[in-house]
Amino acid sequence: MKLRRLYLAVAAIPFTFSLSLSAHADSVSEKVSSDMPKLMALYKDLHAHPELSGFEVNTAAKLAKRAKALGFDVTENVGGTGVVAVLKNGPGPVVMIRADMDGLPVVEQTGLPFASKVRATTEDGIESGVMHACGHDTHMTSWVGTAQALTSMKDKWSGTLVMILQPAEERGKGARDMLADGLYERFPKPDYALAFHDAAGLPAGTIGYTPEFALANVDSVDVIVKGAGGHGAYPHTTKDPIVLASRIVSALQTLVSRELDPQDSAVVTVGSFHAGAKHNIISDKATMLLTVRSYSDETRQALLDGIARIAKGEAIAAGMPEALMPEVNIKDEYTPATYNTPEFTHKMAKVFTQRFGEKRVVQTPAVMGGEDFSRFYRADKNIQSLIFWVGGVEQGDWDKAKEDGTSLPSLHSPYWAPEADAVITTATEALTAVALNIMHKN
Ligand SMILES: [Zn+2]
Ligand SMILES: [Zn+2]
Repeated sequence: MKLRRLYLAVAAIPFTFSLSLSAHADSVSEKVSSDMPKLMALYKDLHAHPELSGFEVNTAAKLAKRAKALGFDVTENVGGTGVVAVLKNGPGPVVMIRADMDGLPVVEQTGLPFASKVRATTEDGIESGVMHACGHDTHMTSWVGTAQALTSMKDKWSGTLVMILQPAEERGKGARDMLADGLYERFPKPDYALAFHDAAGLPAGTIGYTPEFALANVDSVDVIVKGAGGHGAYPHTTKDPIVLASRIVSALQTLVSRELDPQDSAVVTVGSFHAGAKHNIISDKATMLLTVRSYSDETRQALLDGIARIAKGEAIAAGMPEALMPEVNIKDEYTPATYNTPEFTHKMAKVFTQRFGEKRVVQTPAVMGGEDFSRFYRADKNIQSLIFWVGGVEQGDWDKAKEDGTSLPSLHSPYWAPEADAVITTATEALTAVALNIMHKN
């Protein structure tokens, strides 16, 4: 996901404090800091051995073993390589904490001593380097850190902890597959769902939270524009799909600018446009690949309907016969918008602020990236749900970028190297603190 908007928005806030990662020493921060050397060793191991979406076999086995050793009741292979670890600790609410496990087909360029050298073949048959370029290794390490902290403080809370490891987030599949495999039927159904994502748009150790919509609906749409090919010198004997597809690209720009309420936010991007083979041949096909982003279900539907309507309308205007109408295929890889239940989000933001201080906790604007964590709330809207950001940009790099306007690596970049100890310490403390707050034993 791309966090440019978040970066620009937050860049305006003067971060002049020097980061202290132990702002408030208590049993949580003491436990986490004493666990950090071993957690960092785990992080480096996970970072060096990433696995692609749907193939997280060794990662899942490694972490399932740790949860078992901590006394969790562990079930593997839920919705593919997913893991569900349950710890019942008396009456009280059910709190689910999720980490995602997959790496990306990116050739790592960070130069870190523990950089990944792994190569693998994607589901689409493309051979590539593999990297934890979205920072899911920081999520998994903090997941283990949180499980360790909460099991060591079982006398302080009462309730049921459901720790889940999700596969295939990057393909928008894992959460759906775990739910379809009975996550809410075979295991205690959560009253609360929590996760975090490392952020390339915040300084290391800063928490960002966004009440209500935080991340967007993400749709991929293929538009296949048909034509009647022929000689480039005799266009009148053909139906040129490149000219028609170009008109469609232009007309699509009006969907957001002229049809949506200016207060609503959406994106229609034509990310790929392929047609033709030679200077003097008019092709018989043009293929366009689109990404479509929105927040509400209504806006999403309006955009998808609008794309189909414009494609067909422009084909009619170009004089295409019925047999040559464009095909509009909405792909199955849909990620719904992520919604943070507002009252709960504000309450947990207070827990963060008490722990880390006001300067390290900021409300951040929604972004157009996607996260399939959204599905856990959509599957049951009685759940109180929150995914928050934990900044990973080293303070010196952050300050320098602000000063000279250079852009920093985004998530999914081969250069994304978060300041992992800051992310993991902050996220582990934050997740442990909110779980203790929810399941507090009087
Ligand atoms: Zn990602
Ligand atoms: Zn991610």
